[in-house]
Amino acid sequence: MYLIDYHTHSHNSFDGYITVDKIASRAVERGIRELCVTDHYECSDLRTPMAYDFEKSEAEIHEARERYGDKIKLLYGAELGQMHFEPELCKLLCARTKLDFVIGSMHNLKNDLDLYFVEFNEENTKPLFEEYLSELYALASTADYDVLGHITYPLRYIKRDGQWVDIKDYADNIDEILKAVIERGRGIEVNTSGLSGQLGDTMPPYDVIKRYRELGGEIITVGSDAHKRVHVGAGIEEAMGMLIRAGFQYITTFEQRKPSFVKIEE
Ligand SMILES: [Zn+2]
Ligand SMILES: [Zn+2]
Repeated sequence: MYLIDYHTHSHNSFDGYITVDKIASRAVERGIRELCVTDHYECSDLRTPMAYDFEKSEAEIHEARERYGDKIKLLYGAELGQMHFEPELCKLLCARTKLDFVIGSMHNLKNDLDLYFVEFNEENTKPLFEEYLSELYALASTADYDVLGHITYPLRYIKRDGQWVDIKDYADNIDEILKAVIERGRGIEVNTSGLSGQLGDTMPPYDVIKRYRELGGEIITVGSDAHKRVHVGAGIEEAMGMLIRAGFQYITTFEQRKPSFVKIEE
């Protein structure tokens, strides 16, 4: 299997701990063939001058390429939060850096309501999940991303707080998002960070991955969303097995934001 991990965070993310070197060495140990480091840039924070050291991320990737370049392909990406809230800032960021790959994610709802900090209860769970889906649709249908990050992201916090929503009740909203992605020639990711934790599933779950394929979706990446060394490459093989079951023969890789298709089974 051609294993890739296209979602990892270094210490250049506000919530990351590890150097790019440590991520790369772990990925090599786990037999990952391509690794993309995708540090967080929450677009609303980009208003703060020097909020992130873009050059540092890039320099560390170059150093790691010199050390591990013969064992693994290393790509330079970013995970941009709420891109559609700040389209001009996103454009500036992408023009300023030579990104290979951009994940467009929804972490915060309007008024900087961070889903991580929400306490989900019987009253707010459904309305907030609906608001998340409508913002994700706005992002999916307008922003300049390569893949949409961790679709169904609030589920991990909803479950943490002892609540639940059945995504079958939102099949139309999810179809609308997937269709916007496909029509615009973009893709989705399978995020494995929930597999080993409380959620016990990928984001999005298998049914959504399968539906994306049925609707004609082809561009798809997998990523561990590792913030610690131990999680680099975790769950990737399982997720790629899910892709095969859903009817995918190819995984997508990116260079300078151009997709290529690589056969999953070698
Ligand atoms: Zn994210
Ligand atoms: Zn992430």
